[in-house]
Amino acid sequence: QIHLIVITALIIITLLTPITTNTSPQPWNILSNENFAGKLTTTSSSVESAATDFGHVTKIFPSAVLNPSSVEDITDLIKLSFDSQPSFPLAARGHGHSLRGQAAAKGGVVVNMRSMVNRDRGIKVSRTGLYADVEGGCLWIEVLNKTLELGLTPVSWTDYLYLTVGGTLSNGGISGQTFLYGPQISNVLEMDVITGKGEIATCSKDVNSDLYFAVLGGLGQFGIIARARINLGLAPKRAKWLRFLYIDFSEFTRDQERLISESDGLDFLEGSVMVDHGPPDNWRSTYYPPSDHLRIVSMVKRHRVIYCLEVVKYYDQTSQYTVNEEVEELSESLNYVRGFMYEKDVTYMDFLNRVRTGELNLKSKGQWDVPHPWLNLFVPKSHISNFDYGVFKDIILRNNITSGPVLVYPMNRNKWNDRMSTSIPKEDVFYAVGFLRSANFDNWENYEKENMEILKFCEDAKMGVIQYLPYYSSQEGWVRHFGPRWNIFVERKYRYDPNMILSPGQNIFQQ
Ligand code: FAD
Repeated sequence: QIHLIVITALIIITLLTPITTNTSPQPWNILSNENFAGKLTTTSSSVESAATDFGHVTKIFPSAVLNPSSVEDITDLIKLSFDSQPSFPLAARGHGHSLRGQAAAKGGVVVNMRSMVNRDRGIKVSRTGLYADVEGGCLWIEVLNKTLELGLTPVSWTDYLYLTVGGTLSNGGISGQTFLYGPQISNVLEMDVITGKGEIATCSKDVNSDLYFAVLGGLGQFGIIARARINLGLAPKRAKWLRFLYIDFSEFTRDQERLISESDGLDFLEGSVMVDHGPPDNWRSTYYPPSDHLRIVSMVKRHRVIYCLEVVKYYDQTSQYTVNEEVEELSESLNYVRGFMYEKDVTYMDFLNRVRTGELNLKSKGQWDVPHPWLNLFVPKSHISNFDYGVFKDIILRNNITSGPVLVYPMNRNKWNDRMSTSIPKEDVFYAVGFLRSANFDNWENYEKENMEILKFCEDAKMGVIQYLPYYSSQEGWVRHFGPRWNIFVERKYRYDPNMILSPGQNIFQQ
C-alpha cells in the first residue's frame, strides 16, 4: 500500500512539475486567467483540430486554443505573451487551409479567428465609398454574399472562396483577375492590425504605411489582421466562361501574354496543363461536356501534354449581344486547336464559387481531408518555355504520378507593390504555376520528392523561380526566398514582433 502511495505521489509531482517549477507564464498558466474564462480551451478535440491543416502532412500541437469574442481578447493574450519571460508562441488561424502547418503554434496558443466573426457586424459595406470593412476571420464567400446584396463585389479573388480574408492577405491572394487588378493584397485600403507587442494600429498607404505594407503578404509575422477595408466595384450579373485547348506551348503562352497586356479585354485569365489520361474535369470545376471527354483524352494521349486557356468575360443581361460578338472576335484571334473551344454561360456567383461543388463532392466521398503535397511557384516569363520542357514535358511525364490540376497563367508585375512583403520575380510578367495534388497517406511522399525534383531543376537552371505559399525547413531557405529584401523583412520583424511571438509555424524565426 505504501508502495502505491509513493508511486501515486511521484506521478502527481511529475505531472505538476512544469506548473510549479516553471515561473515564467506559459500558455497553461493563463488557463486560470479570468479574462479568458470560457474562451481558452485545451480540449483534445480543439487542440487536435488546431494541430492539422488542409495539407494533412503535419501535426503540430498547441497547448491551447483561444476562441476570442473581441479584438481585446487577442490584444490581451498577445500582451500577456509579450510581457512573459520567455514569451509563448501564438498563431492566428483563419480557415486552416495552409499546407505545411503555417497556422500552427507548437506548444503555444492558436487563435481561432473564425470564432470572432460577428454575423451581423462582421462585414460593413459602404456603397458610396465602394469598400467593405471586413473582420480578418471572415471567409471570402461571406464577403461576396454580403456585397452582392448591394450590387457590389470585391474585384480580386482566389479560385476558392472558403478561405479567410486574414489568411489570403497574409500570402497574396491570386487568381485569374490578378493580371488586371493585382492580387488581393493590392486591393486593401486600410487595416486594423494587432502587432506582436499587443498594440492595435490602423494602417494604410498613408498612415503607418510601413506596417501596412509589411502585413500584406507578411505570412502572419508582423501582426494579426483584425479588420481589412476591401476595395469594391460594381458586380456584374453573368460570366461568359471560355476554354481553348492548345498543343503548342509557345502559341498558348503567346496568346496568354497578349491577352493580359490588353487593358479593356477580359475579366479573368488562367490556364492549365493536362497530362492525365483520366476524365478532363477535376475538383476545381466540372466543365467539359461529357460527350467530348473521349476526344479530349485522346488528344492528351496523342500529344502527351496539352494546355488549356481559360478566360472569362463578365456581362449584364442587357449586353448579351455585345458579349457574344466579343467572344467571336476573341476566338478568331487565338491560336488554339480549331474545334476545341468550349463555352459556358453562368451567373457571376456560380463562376466565382465554381470550386465549391467539387469540394462537396470530394467531401461526400471522404477524399477532401487527404494529404495535399502542393507546390506553387512564380516563374519569370523569360524561363517559362524552359520550365515547360524541363518540368511539364520531362519530370511530370517521367514520374507519371501527377494527380490533380496543374495551373499555369501569367500576371503583370506592375499590379503588385514592391513595398508589400510577398516575394515575386523581377520580370514585368511572371507566371503562377500550381501543382494542386491530392494524395493518400501512403504515397504523399512521392509527390514531395517530385516537388523537390522540380525545385532543384529550377535552381540548377538559375531561373529565378520563387515559391508562392512558401515552405522552407530552415532559415537559409527564407534568406534565399526574400533575396535582397530579407534584411527589410528581419528589420520589420524586430520592429513589430521583437519577441518572435507570431505565426511560428511559418518556420522563419526562432524565439
Ligand atoms: P490559415 O491557413 O488559417 O493561415 C495562413 C497563415 O496566415 C498562417 O500563417 C496564419 O497564422 C496567418 N493568418 C491567418 N489569419 C490571419 C490574420 N487574421 N492576421 C494575420 N495572419 C493571419 N491561394 C491563392 O492565392 N489563390 C487561390 O486560388 C487559392 N486557392 C486555394 C484553394 C484551396 C482548396 C486551398 C486549400 C488553398 C488555396 N489557396 C489559394 C491558398 C490560401 O490562400 C492560403 O492557404 C491561405 O493562407 C488560406 O487561408 P486560411 O484562412 O485558411 O489561412
